[in-house]
Amino acid sequence: MSGIYIHIPFCKQACHYCDFHFSTNTNRTNEMVDMICRELELRSDYLPKGKPVNTIYFGGGTPSLLSAAQIGKILDQIQLYYQLDLKELTLEANPDDLNAKNLQDWKALGLDRLSIGIQTFDAEILRFYNRAHNSKESLNAILMAKAVGFQKLSIDLIYGFPSDNHNIWKNDLQIALDQDPGHISSYCLTVEPKTALGNWEKRGLYSHSTEDFAAVQFEMLMESLDKVGYIQYEISNFGKFGQFAIHNTNYWSGIPYLGIGPSAHSFDGNVRGFNISNNSKYIDSLKNDDLAFTEEKATNLDIANDQILTALRTIWGLDLISFKTDFGFDLLDLKNKQINFLLSEQLLRLENNHLTLTTKGKLLADSVAVSLFLD
Ligand code: SF4
Repeated sequence: MSGIYIHIPFCKQACHYCDFHFSTNTNRTNEMVDMICRELELRSDYLPKGKPVNTIYFGGGTPSLLSAAQIGKILDQIQLYYQLDLKELTLEANPDDLNAKNLQDWKALGLDRLSIGIQTFDAEILRFYNRAHNSKESLNAILMAKAVGFQKLSIDLIYGFPSDNHNIWKNDLQIALDQDPGHISSYCLTVEPKTALGNWEKRGLYSHSTEDFAAVQFEMLMESLDKVGYIQYEISNFGKFGQFAIHNTNYWSGIPYLGIGPSAHSFDGNVRGFNISNNSKYIDSLKNDDLAFTEEKATNLDIANDQILTALRTIWGLDLISFKTDFGFDLLDLKNKQINFLLSEQLLRLENNHLTLTTKGKLLADSVAVSLFLD
């Protein structure tokens, strides 16, 4: 099993909270697609032999800015150089790029899952975020995608927008659930230093909500989705049965993946690779057959700690027997005191040699994981 991630580093406009790698200058899109194809060719032996590619994920940036011909070109290149046994082919798309023609073209290319960046249905907040779409386009996007026959749909929602009450979030959840997308990814609004929001906060023009305020909205999210049959299979990801994202689930299970495009990361099971986060440098390097990425050999301990962090965030939790077999660490023994404390505080659950977070633990997921890190 393995996966391929393709990073498309272009956006129509910069959302005020976003610190992903993207550029609003789309002049070199064709060259970028060509160099992504070149990187796919040059790195065709990256993934371990005998592990066919099961998932392909176009992320960004805004992959839905590419034409169907450009997406098709990348997929053809993958087919040429990689052994495929595809179970999922995802495209991240923004609502303003969804129309019947695009949707039909994407479907014809074999895309079977769309992840739509909705974020909120509130008109004022969409403007504040500098999103390129309005809420009517969001609703239409879901309807059209369903009408064209996309069975696997996910929408992104952001919670934690500062306010004196939770009405906007309540409304967002209600509208989202009325559309019944089948999968929802939801993240807390954070203030990253190199964003407009970060700049405003530094100048005293914006102040983020408190942790308690955001925690209430996270609880509202968990509760309302649970009531209508969504399973929180990862702390920020909720899906109905049969709708869990395979690509992301594989990441969390430590399955190798190849990341292509500027800023993409890769992992072959031992070594992590980081592509350069600069569009021009990426294109110019690839033109000279220079891959422009750095590698970092992860130690056994690094991978073990990563596994604690990611596994605890999932519904399957941390399998202590596999953990001992894979890394040689008996966590129950080495972290006995910490585990007992977390169990007594009802932040963790221990069943059948699996550690999982309780609902209370999910509110403190990172601190719980860090307290179990090995050194
Ligand atoms: S569209 Fe997505 S990647 Fe682009 S700026 Fe907005 S949030 Fe970031």
